[in-house]
Amino acid sequence: MKMLINGEWRDSVSGKVFEVRNPATGELVDEAPFGSEDDVRSAVEAAGEAFSDWSARSPRDRSKVLLFAAEEVRRRNTDLGALLTTEQGKPIREAVDEINGFANILEYYHALSAGKQGEFLKIRGYGRATVQRRPLGICGAIIPWNMPAIIMGWKIGAALTAGNTMILKPARTAPLTCMKLAEILGEAGLPPGVLNVVTGPGETVGREIARNPGVRKVSFTGEVGTGRQVALDAAPALKHLTLELGGSDPMIVCDDADIKAAVEGVIRGRFYNCGQVCTAVKRLYVFESIAEEFIRRLTARVEAIVVGNGMDRGVGMGPLNNRAGFMRVVTQVDTARERDEGKIIAGGRTPDGEAYKHGFFFLPTLITDVPYDSVLFSEEVFGPVLPIATVPGLDEALELANNSRYGLGASVWTRSADVIARATEDLEAGIVWVNQHLRIPPEVPFGGTKSSGIGSENGSRALEEYMEEKAVLIRL
Ligand code: NAD
Repeated sequence: MKMLINGEWRDSVSGKVFEVRNPATGELVDEAPFGSEDDVRSAVEAAGEAFSDWSARSPRDRSKVLLFAAEEVRRRNTDLGALLTTEQGKPIREAVDEINGFANILEYYHALSAGKQGEFLKIRGYGRATVQRRPLGICGAIIPWNMPAIIMGWKIGAALTAGNTMILKPARTAPLTCMKLAEILGEAGLPPGVLNVVTGPGETVGREIARNPGVRKVSFTGEVGTGRQVALDAAPALKHLTLELGGSDPMIVCDDADIKAAVEGVIRGRFYNCGQVCTAVKRLYVFESIAEEFIRRLTARVEAIVVGNGMDRGVGMGPLNNRAGFMRVVTQVDTARERDEGKIIAGGRTPDGEAYKHGFFFLPTLITDVPYDSVLFSEEVFGPVLPIATVPGLDEALELANNSRYGLGASVWTRSADVIARATEDLEAGIVWVNQHLRIPPEVPFGGTKSSGIGSENGSRALEEYMEEKAVLIRL
């Protein structure tokens, strides 16, 4: 694969490439250009040239291109899903789901494009006022490898519909699906230069996007530490910023919860995408009175998850995506084990057997009796490991849930209206679910509080995140 600058598929000016390997087998999937700062500068130039024509089009015209692309993406969802599984590792069913999710997002932005572009007001003593909303210009998107298609959709859907042009940097270990999606957008009529995709390392390509004075906004999704660096790099040029960062979502299971539904909520909430989701269930607090039954039923379900190559039929969980992420999870579990922080009742290790030898596989893991101050609760565990603690009641559960530097998502499982009212009010998170966890429709705003981020994506106001306002006061 090559990278996309000004509608052309190019090598990096450095001439270097990097390998994209299948995380289940270690096999080479493809190579991608090892981009440099100079490639970002060319992309900025192309995006600048494309801006005047693109921003002058009506929002509906712009978003029609996204709609045509969405149709084609849906038509090719099986092939695109297979590519995503091969580079990212998730089971093919989840990958096709994600590809369809990308199409949903583009369709949502098409619908949003019909919304208001400004306001008209009459203000006594001032005359008539209009508030115009205009695109910012060239925007940068820096994305991770865990949900590359969805996160690409969130960023380009809003930015392009609002009239901006964009430079997208995918992650090193999952750039190929993003490039294919960009190709489909080009075939659907996206003019050259409106979306440029530069592949390569965060330290050069990512940093140049954050620093380049021509880029007016950076929308970043990734780890807290990287987000902080992006903010520092973007500060001299006073750029607009959206930072979607890490999370350590709590899930509270009350004594009146539907246990079967809550068990399924954990299975999906923690083990989907091998636990590599920002809003995965990362801390479980169960009421003491139901803990024994809940953990017994959960353990049986966890032990039934088939781990393997995401392309194989019946596989419920694939490998982790990359060595660094795999090593981090192994270290977190080893640290908890060494410090005697809880009992491992399922998994806790890599699976045995030839089929797992070349991949980043880790068994779905449950750890009970985890002390409230364990590393498993304080750090984000980005893999298939669930620390569980019991709590006497709601007060303790809410206090523990909020005792985190993160504030991305949280869920409460109960049938009580009083508990729902209190928990949805008190939980410190950008999104709170009741009797569900994980899924995020494009219709609601998504963003974190505390260290989980700044700004939000999606929702009815999403386009405004990529626009600036101009007030005009007229006295006749
Ligand atoms: P990461 O921060 O390592 O990398 C994210 C992207 O930033 C990659 O494209 C990387 O190449 C690039 N990058 C690295 N260093 C950079 C720098 N100095 N300047 C600019 N760009 C740089 O994150 P990751 O490991 O790819 O993703 C996992 C993290 O992302 C987890 O913490 C997860 O919770 C978070 N995440 C958050 C959301 C959300 O919406 N809040 C969604 C998905 C993932």
